[in-house]
Amino acid sequence: MKIGLIDVDSRHFPNLALMRLSAWHKAQGDAVEWWNGFTHYDRVYLSKVFTFTPDHDTVIDADEIVTGGTGYKDYGTLPPEVEETFPDYSIYPQYSRAIGFLTRGCVRSCPWCIVPRKEGMIRPAATWGQLKRPDGRELVLMDNNVLACEHGLEQIRRMGREELRVDFNQGLDARLITPDTAALLAKLKWIRFVRLSCDTSAMLPVIEQAAAYLKEAGVAPSRLWCYLLVQDVADAHSRVLALEELGFDVFAQPYRDYDGGEPTSEQKDFARWVNVKSVHRSCAWEDYSRP
Ligand code: SF4
Repeated sequence: MKIGLIDVDSRHFPNLALMRLSAWHKAQGDAVEWWNGFTHYDRVYLSKVFTFTPDHDTVIDADEIVTGGTGYKDYGTLPPEVEETFPDYSIYPQYSRAIGFLTRGCVRSCPWCIVPRKEGMIRPAATWGQLKRPDGRELVLMDNNVLACEHGLEQIRRMGREELRVDFNQGLDARLITPDTAALLAKLKWIRFVRLSCDTSAMLPVIEQAAAYLKEAGVAPSRLWCYLLVQDVADAHSRVLALEELGFDVFAQPYRDYDGGEPTSEQKDFARWVNVKSVHRSCAWEDYSRP
């Protein structure tokens, strides 16, 4: 079979589903390549992670077209035999890190979050050894709430004894950072940041406590980093100031609903003010937002 792949989100970050499909098809003896508009394919896979990414809008010459991913509101999983296949990293030669999940799901049900609906209750997914690339020692872990799962904690414990560098790129749940979990996290070698999330003002005292535990355990203050959900802008502004006071580098994410509805222009302006550091350092929000 001749297989074409389309990463609708445009290949900025490796698409795990496409890498697994590529590996699985190659193992069946199929020819796999990035789709191009001049070739007829037996099957073309389109994968889209983000609802706000515009859909692929070019005609596809293929006997079969398969779409998948949260961006298409497809919350299903790959067939088990594909899901278990080690990803084909060769399709993203510019990327040298391993990516994957130690756990899937979450114990919470935050109303703005798709994870509970998409993935359900937390459960083990893989060991760090199953995710690691033979040609690298860096792991980007996309777990949604790794600290809520005993398997996740055990993997953190084991990774702390290895020559690995890690990034939990979805943010850790500050409510689950205790002196014990902070000690485990402090033993990890981090690619760059220890990422937390601050979605509401109620999280601020929890994050303050978590930051204190992390620092006591030996995490360098310069590693503290925090996602900030932006719904009400005035509330988000006060959270940014409080988090920066605590020493966090903050990254703002305007809220998008499940249907990919656009954030308001005020939410987008605010996120730009927070995230573009040259802008952020040079003026206050009140000045930046003044008409
Ligand atoms: S804790 Fe995080 S992953 Fe879990 S439901 Fe809330 S926002 Fe989603």
